[in-house]
Amino acid sequence: MSWTCPRCQQPVYFAEKVSSVGKNWHRFCLKCEHCHSILSPGGHAEHNGRPYCHKPCYGALFGPRGKFQPRRGQGPQDSPCG
Ligand SMILES: [Zn+2]
Ligand SMILES: [Zn+2]
Repeated sequence: MSWTCPRCQQPVYFAEKVSSVGKNWHRFCLKCEHCHSILSPGGHAEHNGRPYCHKPCYGALFGPRGKFQPRRGQGPQDSPCG
């Protein structure tokens, strides 16, 4: 039995598979989308089904101060003393 690796689209065989974010990956294809460091299955963050390392990437990208967080109060009337 084999699966298709979501990163390289090649077959993943049982002996080399790791499971994370509900998918089966080659051991060395389970990498952070952002910095490409190898992740351990279940020991990393995830966003839109893609793996990220907790630090620094996930926090930097999607954390409370991350750059992909939508800004609150999108109107032009942001009060300077808020
Ligand atoms: Zn792969
Ligand atoms: Zn990373």
